[in-house]
Amino acid sequence: MANTAFQNALAQLATAAEILKFSPEVVRALYSPDRVLKADVTVRLDSGAEKTFTAFRSQYNDALGPYKGGIRFHQNVSEDEVKALSFWMMVKCAAVGLPLGGGKGGVIVNPKELSAGEIQRLSRAYIQAFYKHLGPTVDVPAPDVYTTPEIMGWMLDEYEKLTGTHAPGMITGKPLSLGGSRGRGSATAQGGVFVLEELMKKLGKKPEETTVAIQGFGNAGSYMAKILHGLGYKIVAVSDSQGGVYNEEGIDPQKAEKLKKAGGQLGCYCIGTVCTLEQMPSDGPCRAISNAELLELAVDVLVPAALENQITAENASRVKAKIIAELANGPTTPEADEILFQKGILVIPDVLTNAGGVTVSYFEQVQNASNYYWTEAEVMEKLKKIMVDAFNAVWATKEKYNIKMRTAAFVLALTRVAQAMRDRGN
Ligand code: GLU
Repeated sequence: MANTAFQNALAQLATAAEILKFSPEVVRALYSPDRVLKADVTVRLDSGAEKTFTAFRSQYNDALGPYKGGIRFHQNVSEDEVKALSFWMMVKCAAVGLPLGGGKGGVIVNPKELSAGEIQRLSRAYIQAFYKHLGPTVDVPAPDVYTTPEIMGWMLDEYEKLTGTHAPGMITGKPLSLGGSRGRGSATAQGGVFVLEELMKKLGKKPEETTVAIQGFGNAGSYMAKILHGLGYKIVAVSDSQGGVYNEEGIDPQKAEKLKKAGGQLGCYCIGTVCTLEQMPSDGPCRAISNAELLELAVDVLVPAALENQITAENASRVKAKIIAELANGPTTPEADEILFQKGILVIPDVLTNAGGVTVSYFEQVQNASNYYWTEAEVMEKLKKIMVDAFNAVWATKEKYNIKMRTAAFVLALTRVAQAMRDRGN
């Protein structure tokens, strides 16, 4: 049986811990979350019936600062998955030097089956279950897969009602009207673009000569497609959970997005989703492809921007991209990582590529705490500095030890976490 996401995360931890020669005490402390909160939350459906969902919040480590990480609404959420995702949040925040720990939440639910009202009641129920363990200096949630600024607004409102306070810094990714930060929506993708551009500079590659395939068309993937397209990269493939489209002549992501939203159709692009496979013509330069095929395209840059465990021991040998920029969390298993490394494929790891999201979440908290708000240009300038510095630190560490960029990012991150633990006397 394939390893679970958390087993994969611990395998990554073991590789870095060996290089760092961590003591058994430190390794033991990093081996499991501080705590995993679990609750059954009951929601009234529009029909009048009630339905109960399982909800989690994993608080992994807060040596560097409050637990930080999104809440995911997805049918595949599990305790194992939230543990892994909270671990990766700890590594991510530390890798880019944020004063934050790692946390993550989730609800086992297919949100596509719920109405907006039902989702609002579920979001409020989540906060009712866990609010005593959340707060601006304790644990700060944010959006993740299938959770939105609107949901963050409902969660904030519920928290403030329960506590009788105004506490905008208790959650990030909020609407602007409630203390959200400018630039937060595109931040995950924009951070990924900043690090990819640094790598392109190192390799002397130009956007116009670079083809890109992007798996996933949610918040991260769709912004990534639009920003890269705007910079002159050739986006040849995009996909969503229903399937994908390939066009060797290039895809205009703006159009693909419009069509996805409208449920409309254009040539070979989209019918309701990025592509509904069975409704796609298969001739011409434009054709329907599956998510699995997308990962194996002969492109310069592959961007997994969907879920975990996409590049595995099974398909890694068939990956033909030269660069992989992991915008999703945990898309590559440790076995696959090794195969990609042997093939000379450069993987910019998730904990670096997608750290722009939590970085602007941190900026959002800073703005909330000072009650003073920045322009989008200020946010972007600060984001760029953090991402570029982090990329160069990871690159230098990779060169020094002759290791993967992922291991380098872990080495940098875990050095900081371990230092904070020591300084606390833990
Ligand atoms: N869910 C995002 C991530 O996985 C953002 C987390 C945050 O902003 O706290 O990085």
